[in-house]
Amino acid sequence: MLTREHFDVILAGGDLIDGSGSSRFVADVGILGDHVAAIGDLSDASADERLDVSGKVVAPGFIDAHTHDDRLLFADPAMKPKSSQGVTTVIVGNCGVSLAPFSAPGRPKPPLDLIFGLDPVRFPTFSGFLDAVDRQPAATNAAFLIGHQTVRVREVVDLNRPAEYDEILAMRSHVAEAMEAGAIGLSTGLFYPPARAATTDEVVALTEVAAAAGGLYATHLRDEGAKLLDSVKEALEIGRRTNAPVVLSHHKASGVANHGKVKESLPLIREARKSQKVALDVYPYIASSTVLLSERVADSSKVLITWSEPMPEAAGRDLAELAMEYQQSPIAMVSRLQPAGAIYFSMAEDDVREVISFEDVMIGSDGIPHDEKPHPRLWGTFPRILGYYVREVGLFSLEEAVRRMTSLPASVFGLKDRGCIREGAYADITIFNPETIIDSANFDSPTQPAEGILAVMTNGTFIWRNGKPTGARPGRALRLRDQVMPKN
Ligand SMILES: [Zn+2]
Repeated sequence: MLTREHFDVILAGGDLIDGSGSSRFVADVGILGDHVAAIGDLSDASADERLDVSGKVVAPGFIDAHTHDDRLLFADPAMKPKSSQGVTTVIVGNCGVSLAPFSAPGRPKPPLDLIFGLDPVRFPTFSGFLDAVDRQPAATNAAFLIGHQTVRVREVVDLNRPAEYDEILAMRSHVAEAMEAGAIGLSTGLFYPPARAATTDEVVALTEVAAAAGGLYATHLRDEGAKLLDSVKEALEIGRRTNAPVVLSHHKASGVANHGKVKESLPLIREARKSQKVALDVYPYIASSTVLLSERVADSSKVLITWSEPMPEAAGRDLAELAMEYQQSPIAMVSRLQPAGAIYFSMAEDDVREVISFEDVMIGSDGIPHDEKPHPRLWGTFPRILGYYVREVGLFSLEEAVRRMTSLPASVFGLKDRGCIREGAYADITIFNPETIIDSANFDSPTQPAEGILAVMTNGTFIWRNGKPTGARPGRALRLRDQVMPKN
């Protein structure tokens, strides 16, 4: 250690949790440029800024393994819902929905409309999208999946049938272009109407292009309810046939009749992991959220509207109450509200805890940033794991929780020199108070910054401090194979 050195910033005297799962230890962290330059006793070193963080945890910035933040990178470059939680990297393009490559103006089919704005900004190519992120960076880093639904809506003439040969070729060329541009893999959302008619073979045909370029396969399963196990098997088969690592998104058992099914799906995943690469992510809530779909209403104990185009005043309201007010059946009310989004109370707390406790589960918010009254997971996921499931419930140690939010997703998604604090790694860092960190966002007030996050840094620059964004936008578009060690 070179104590004579000068650093841009020294984080002094914090409890360092390095992301590996190892126990915390007290150390100073010296940051130079975009990377961690020294760890140890830096009391003799000088710095432009020395920040006393004693009694606080210094951890790698969290990696949100599952987001729909594609357009948020431009719409709110401070990335407030994420930077306020200590997130420094988001994985975008999930559930088969990516902002690129897509060129049609206006409101696209649900669920594409969850992330597409009505503004005319469109990216017909993936490279154009990533270049735009380079030109207008956000506060956080982002890594990018190309969405099957996006290319399917673009290329398949009749979405109610499997894609034909020439349509598959067209979709494959988009996947190839995206991988060339730096995408980290392909995502699907086989549950959603634009993708339901896709066969396993159709998905394999696209996934093999991503896999050949080193990409992975991330999937919102065809069925998270009655056919959960069959759907997990389909995803595993796609991984085996293409050699792609598989990421099972927001793992859950949905609908009261299916509660407890994760006790069967998790052993299936554990067994598959002996012979193929399989990862999964989870968000810490018993309610899900997506576009308003009548089939999801039936298996939910309660439905809250998150937005509605014809009835904006319905945002935040209970569907059953609205139906009574309008003297209509809930299903008729669903039609009246369309296009719209909703929150569905459809999971069991025991199942949620079972999945969070799985040995290698990543944390992914699945937040939907453009909803009028979003699911609180958008603002609360990471502090809720750390404050509620770790500190209050005691599911596992704080060090283990941090590992699941940092080095684990960095390794699954191939983010080199991120998700860890060690000399030479990028200085993506979150400083929090382990005694007070907790989510503030709830179903009534879903857009509240969490408590206990003191400062957040991306690539060596503070993006969140004293309860607000700093305005800095040091984030980068992380491209597969394009991440080299920072020069010391
Ligand atoms: Zn999804």
